[in-house]
Amino acid sequence: MKVVVATHPSALEHDTGPGHPENPQRVAAVLRGVGGSGLEVVELEAPRAAIADLERVHDASYIEHIRLLCDAGGGMLDYDTVVSPASYEAALRAAGGVMALIEDLETRSDATGFAVSRPPGHHALSARAMGFCLFNNVAVAAAALREREMRVAILDWDVHHGNGTQALLGDDPGVLYVSLHQDGFYPYEGVPGDIDRMAPGTNVNVPLQAGTAGDVVRELWDGVVVPVVGLFEPDWVLVSAGFDAHQADPLAELSLVGSDYGYMAEAMRRVIAPERVVVALEGGYDPGALEESVSATLMGLAGEAPPGDPLSSPPGSRLAADTAVEAVSRHWAI
Ligand SMILES: [Zn+2]
Repeated sequence: MKVVVATHPSALEHDTGPGHPENPQRVAAVLRGVGGSGLEVVELEAPRAAIADLERVHDASYIEHIRLLCDAGGGMLDYDTVVSPASYEAALRAAGGVMALIEDLETRSDATGFAVSRPPGHHALSARAMGFCLFNNVAVAAAALREREMRVAILDWDVHHGNGTQALLGDDPGVLYVSLHQDGFYPYEGVPGDIDRMAPGTNVNVPLQAGTAGDVVRELWDGVVVPVVGLFEPDWVLVSAGFDAHQADPLAELSLVGSDYGYMAEAMRRVIAPERVVVALEGGYDPGALEESVSATLMGLAGEAPPGDPLSSPPGSRLAADTAVEAVSRHWAI
């Protein structure tokens, strides 16, 4: 199987400053992971998203504010979201890459798509940068698909809740947003009860207590996520693929291992063809974990997930997740 990989050199020039976890070295780790997957790589130069594409989810004045701040030399957007002169260009290409992959995959079979999107996107709100994110890459691509009346499922396995994505698209019954994330953790949103508001049934949040490992996550994936996606019948699946739920990640406290990502990716093949899946990078701050997890994800999408057992969760982890399962079962026949 082929993997079409959207990248652009500007991702390396988005400079967040010394010691920042969301740094350009992440790109190299991700590309090592792509190479290590064994899939045939097709390179795609990520184009700039058009301003009109961004404006489907972002305020025009906010887009202009980012451009002007970068032109003026850069600065802080919040306490941990930083831009440098090249960041606007990188952000346009990060969003454009996801869109271009969709267009490219429409002409292919036996392929899948991976966007090395940096800066990441899932915390970005309509008019506010947050959590290292400038433009919401996945939401921009999903909004373009919605204009063509495509149904879109967004699977967000980043350790942080994608508050931006849910805020931007949560009211649209044609978008399913599913997030597995660490409970009580930045950005302190994403509760199971969200499924009852906005477009009912389409915002599926599964908070996981600290320490939760792949044993419980795989069970929830098979028992909740994959069945709900299957029932939703999306035309496209966009994966907000942060790899910061990995046990080695320095920012968070879940305990996934590389093979867990392969497991989740392979399971998606039961409900969607790989050429209708685009994986977009979100977080993930340990280089080794990034490399291993990206490889496993792509191998899984190809139906060849690497072997490996999950770690064991602390007692009570499943019980904590059951609140979410109960909420989901009010809307979906799982
Ligand atoms: Zn994250």
